[in-house]
Formats: sequence, C-alpha cells, structure tokens
Amino acid sequence: MTQPVALITGITGQDGSYLAEFLLAKAYKVVGMVRRTSVFHHHRIEHLLDQVVLEQADLLDQTSLHSIIRNHRPSEIYNLAAQSFIPASFEAPVLTGETTALGVTRMLEAVREVDPSIRFYQASSSEMFGKVREVPQTEQTPFHPRSPYGAAKVYGHWITVNYREAYDLFACSGILFNHESPRRGMEFVTRKISYNVACIKQGLQQELALGNLDTSRDWGYAPDYVRAMWLMLQQDEPDDYVVATGETHLIREFAKAAFDVVDLDWRNHVVQDERFMREADVDLLVGDAAKAGRKLGWEPALDFAGLVTTMVEADMELVAFKRA
Ligand code: NAP
Repeated sequence: MTQPVALITGITGQDGSYLAEFLLAKAYKVVGMVRRTSVFHHHRIEHLLDQVVLEQADLLDQTSLHSIIRNHRPSEIYNLAAQSFIPASFEAPVLTGETTALGVTRMLEAVREVDPSIRFYQASSSEMFGKVREVPQTEQTPFHPRSPYGAAKVYGHWITVNYREAYDLFACSGILFNHESPRRGMEFVTRKISYNVACIKQGLQQELALGNLDTSRDWGYAPDYVRAMWLMLQQDEPDDYVVATGETHLIREFAKAAFDVVDLDWRNHVVQDERFMREADVDLLVGDAAKAGRKLGWEPALDFAGLVTTMVEADMELVAFKRA
C-alpha cells in the first residue's frame, strides 16, 4: 500500500501541531505549509522537525498554493491556517477576510485544478453562530457571526459546501467549538488564565486582569478535536459536522478551577479590565455533537476539569523551567 500524504496548512498552530502528531502515528507522510518569516518560530513543532516536510506557501498567494499541492500530491488536505484571533480581526478586518475567507477559495481552487480527488477539510468555527438562534447549536442552526473573524469563517464554510456541490469535491467543514491545550496561543483567555495562574503561584505577580467573566464557552481539548478532523475525511461521503463537548462554562468558572489546581482563591487575584471586553460578544455557545457521535463514532476523551488541570500543570512546569 502506498503511504498516504497529508498536507496541513497552519501546521505551526495549536491544532496543526497535534494533527501532525496524530497523522504521523498513523504512518502518514506529513507535509506542513509554513509562511516565510525572517525568523524561525516553529516552537510547537520543534519536536517533529525531523519527521515532517515543511514547505513555504501562503494563503494570500495563489501560485504558492498550486505549487505546494503539485509538488507533494497529498491525498488529504487539512486547511487549518487562518488569522484566528477574534480581537485582531476587528483591528485587521481586511487581512482577516483575505486569509480566513478568501484563503479557503484559493485552496479549493488549487485542489480543483491540480487534483480534484484530494479530500479537503476546512476548519470552520462555532464563532459562525455568534448571536445564537438556538441552544444548543447543530449543523442546521443558522449563522449570525459577531466579528470579522466569524464572518470570514461563514464565507469559508459556504465556499467549502459550494465546491462540494458544484465540483463534486470531497470537501468537509468541521464546525469546531473552542478547543484548548497547553499549546494554545497566549492571547487566548484560557491560556492567559493558566499561564498567569502559574506565574502567580510562583510569586512572579499578584494579579490577573480579565474582560467579561460572564462570557461562556463550550471548551474541549485540542487533541480530541484533531481526531474528529481525520475521521471526517475517512467517511464514504463528505459532510459537515459540529464538534463540541455539549457543556458550557463561564470564564469565571475556568478561572476558579485554574486557581483551585494550585490551591489559591481566584477572588484574591482576578481583576476585571474594560480593555479586554469585546466590541460585540457572542451569546451562549454550546454545541450539539450528536451527528459526529453517530456517524464518526467521535466523543471527547478529556472533560472540563481534566482540561483545566492539564493546562495549569503544563504552565506550572513551563514557568518553573523559564525561571531556572
Ligand atoms: P492558530 O494556533 O492561530 O494557528 C493558525 C495557523 O495559521 C498558524 O500556523 C499560522 O502560521 C497560520 N497562518 C496564518 N496566516 C497564514 C497565511 N497567510 N498563510 C499561511 N499560514 C497562515 O489556530 P488553531 O487554534 O490551531 O486553529 C486552527 C484552525 O481552526 C484555525 O483556522 C482556527 O480559526 C480554527 N478554529 C479553531 C478553534 C479553536 O478553538 N482553537 C475553534 C474553531 C476553529 P504562523 O505560525 O506563521 O502565524
């Protein structure tokens, strides 16, 4: 049997790094697409550098996308690359649209022209539901995004569905709810909490400033979620799936649980700061992943308490290592 080849865009991101590990364990050849930068900043995949092939290309540059697909002939593409930070999407809405929305069309065009038999995964997001029309949200729930990021993801979702219907591509959209891990970017609230809790516990600071504590999210564990991506591309027919835990927790609950891990009282350390409030926040995001359960046999392995503990313990080690 020939070795399957997977191309991951966004391999340097949280999900890309876990997906690369997952696919390598399944004996795939993994090709990772990276942007050209003047400094090498691939810390999430440092441990994989001798096992993956990295090639430069950019979602903003159509020619580079054709080349990378033509050169490596993947059987599966996971399009994870995006400008993925919501506050940054308000500051750079046009760049967000170019990358997170039109970047999907550029990828799909390259697939269609080079090899339409490639199976394609699009990283869609629960942020598409935004001002939610129903709770919990399913694959049938109408979208109402509340940020330039969410709006760009709606475009990416529909263009994926459109290429599936118009050109018969095996293109799937995974509507993933928030998923976190010790590799989450520092600017995201869960990681901000776990890292700052570790700093406070180790005496480096006293306070943690957060925005709206009463925002709630459906938080899962990133390694569980990359498994769902792969499962989608192994089915007989392409389809779209919600991937979520079905549980929702407030940011204040996450903060309390994180301080609990290190035996501190969160009320002594958390302060609210207007600067971290969103321009327009989303409502009660909570996903119904029944279809993924039924058709993919997917369910999350790590629960909320396990997720918080995993993140805080990893950051306790990281902070201790940096101090040593
Ligand atoms: P992430 O850590 O922010 O990673 C984003 C990746 O995209 C990075 O590798 C980044 O490369 C790359 N990228 C950005 N602009 C690019 C461009 N113009 N050309 C090529 N690569 C570019 O995101 P993540 O948390 O792993 O999420 C993966 C995907 O799932 C994203 O599309 C995200 O929007 C989506 N998603 C995430 C969640 C979640 O909770 N994590 C939920 C739903 C959907 P650099 O390293 O060079 O910046």
